[in-house]
Amino acid sequence: MENLREPLNGNEEYLYENVHDIVIVGGGVGGLATALALHRLGVKSLVLEKASNLRTSGAAFVMWANAWKALDALGVADSLRPNYRQLDGIRGSSNCTGMKKAVQLIKKTKGGLTTMMESRCIERIKLIETLAKELPKGTIRFSSKVVLINKKNPSSLTSLKLEDGQSITTKILIGCDGVYSVVGSFMGIPPAKSSGRIAIRGMVTYAESHQLEKFHSQVWDRGLRAGFIPCTDKQVYWFLTRRSQLQDANISGDAEKIRHATLDMIHDFPKPFAELVKASPAESISYADMKVRLVWPWMKLLPGKANGSVTLVGDALHPMTPDLGQGACSTLEDAIVLRRCLGETMKSINIVQWGEEEEKKIEWCFNKYLQERRWRVFTLVNAALIIGIVNEGSSKLIRFARDKILFPLFSVSYLRHFADFDCGNLKAKYS
Ligand SMILES: Cc1cc2nc3c(=O)[nH]c(=O)nc-3n(C[C@H](O)[C@H](O)[C@H](O)COP(=O)(O)OP(=O)(O)OC[C@H]3O[C@@H](n4cnc5c(N)ncnc54)[C@H](O)[C@@H]3O)c2cc1C
Repeated sequence: MENLREPLNGNEEYLYENVHDIVIVGGGVGGLATALALHRLGVKSLVLEKASNLRTSGAAFVMWANAWKALDALGVADSLRPNYRQLDGIRGSSNCTGMKKAVQLIKKTKGGLTTMMESRCIERIKLIETLAKELPKGTIRFSSKVVLINKKNPSSLTSLKLEDGQSITTKILIGCDGVYSVVGSFMGIPPAKSSGRIAIRGMVTYAESHQLEKFHSQVWDRGLRAGFIPCTDKQVYWFLTRRSQLQDANISGDAEKIRHATLDMIHDFPKPFAELVKASPAESISYADMKVRLVWPWMKLLPGKANGSVTLVGDALHPMTPDLGQGACSTLEDAIVLRRCLGETMKSINIVQWGEEEEKKIEWCFNKYLQERRWRVFTLVNAALIIGIVNEGSSKLIRFARDKILFPLFSVSYLRHFADFDCGNLKAKYS
């Protein structure tokens, strides 16, 4: 929505600029889900995405029950579900001790099969395309990298400078711009740090059915974990995580070098690990330094300066290691909760005018949102970090704890704690 409006708060420079009610920086899962959550209740927003089109990198995600509940709330889950297979369970084995464990996500009952926990592996691009398709035309502006953010005083509008020199002004700013968030750094929050671990991912699409069972399969080794998950009958996603090493700098930008290094690391892994890595097209193979920002219970989620009508969603707010497969899932939860918290106040806000009173109301909503997310995010960020360290344990003690104590105790109830969260619905219509 672009308006030419009267000067606001006496700031003459806004007169001839575009003034938006809500600008979202970043057109990934978080940005598009937030825009859709707002749209579903009649609120327009503008999404600024630095890429020239919807980003295809990232191969696939495991989407757990909590994500499907959020996608249900957004009204897109049923268009995705039929295309991706419900996983029957999780299988893990240790190359160090031979320990094996399987956990069923589906169980046989008198009435047939019952799903105990929804879990499907879906292509990242298909998820963001589905979200984007539901947005009104013109909501996403591509090739719009935000390089500078400025806010003169607490109740003034927020100005964004784009890389191409354009300026955009907004009343409300939502940063969904991932781990290197420019909105986060404007808010003064510390940048995400390297967790000291890396992830390699890839995806293969076969011409015929791959015949693999519908299991999330993982193998643990000394300082290393690798897994694969069928997305559809023909598509399989695989990953490997381990501690980062000095020589990683030599392979990180070259898919063929990443492939060779991966094959080297999994040479004694069972079938079909090596086959999947060999069959994956180079463009599907990627390398990522896993980032994290620790969250402690006594901390505010945003430990930077208070910023009124500016907030964060997704990786920008809570970068976490992917060991629980919850980064994107919890990002979808953020979008629903943020919209719900905003919804109650937006009814009473005069969005045409903008001043201290309006800003205070939005700030109240954003604080409520952060308050609601605090414990959930604290649990996920820290649990993922600990699980990652244990999974890739290279010391004898950690491997013993993993293979003899934690691994045997692993169950659906344990998974439910992280992955069966219900973030609720979008609630009342704003008009
Ligand atoms: C190896 C690995 C495996 C993972 N596996 C899973 C999994 O199985 N399940 C799961 O739920 N999660 C998983 N995740 C986490 C998941 O990828 C992220 O949590 C999720 O993508 C976060 O979405 P986001 O929209 O916050 O950020 P992003 O997906 O990073 O999107 C940010 C967007 O902002 C844009 N942008 C950035 N800066 C600017 C700017 N200055 N101006 C304009 N646009 C900008 C970017 O181009 C991008 O499109 C995994 C992550 C990794 C690294």
